[in-house]
Amino acid sequence: MPRSIEHAAVDAIPRGAPGPRRPIVDVVPGADVRRRERRLAWTTIAIILTLGTATTILVLSGRLRVATGAVSPARIALECAAWLAIVETYLYGLHRLMHTRRLFRSVHRLHHLSAATDAWTALSLHPAEALAAFGIFPVLVALHPVHVATIVAVSAFMITALVATHVNHEPVPRGWHQSALTSWLTTPLVHVAHHADARVNFGAATTLPDRLFGTHRVDLSWYDRGREPAWRPPTTGGSGRA
Ligand SMILES: [Zn+2]
Repeated sequence: MPRSIEHAAVDAIPRGAPGPRRPIVDVVPGADVRRRERRLAWTTIAIILTLGTATTILVLSGRLRVATGAVSPARIALECAAWLAIVETYLYGLHRLMHTRRLFRSVHRLHHLSAATDAWTALSLHPAEALAAFGIFPVLVALHPVHVATIVAVSAFMITALVATHVNHEPVPRGWHQSALTSWLTTPLVHVAHHADARVNFGAATTLPDRLFGTHRVDLSWYDRGREPAWRPPTTGGSGRA
């Protein structure tokens, strides 16, 4: 792993002994951290809406081409698979880049204000990172016209996955992570680990790029009730484990 990876200071205090619905990362972020995350999230939402509106205007004015009308489900499935592979690979590469020393300090640090994440944390991004991440969609539309259903389906899936994987509770049983049918899909237990240990799990919606590049980790000991939380990040400033 690159030595330049850093972990943000964590503004949090230990929550105490885990209960039956214990969180994945067992800390409570400061109120100022949550307020800052929400402000950044609203900026990201504005950027997403602006990009979506601009793309729609360009399509309606004929400057960007998309396919419409009846088309076979097989073609939609193929386009979705191709788009998903491209977007996931791009976001993985962007995320790795964001963890180099300079970009982490100036940009990506704002996404790592707390190791205990929630849905708002998913969209808590520096505007430059939000543009780089969500700007991939209009760029792909410009490069190759696909069906409008593909654009809507992949965009909705990626944004839903991004938000869902930042919730600090795991909704699936242990078997999810042990089955080849399901373990390719990122869950909160996988992604929240990245916020506690920034050396692993950079993937956005799937575990595939992390498996390919050797950065995948899922600690199933979290399921063993009564144990200490799998990840308890440092409660003071400075570099963490990463
Ligand atoms: Zn990160």
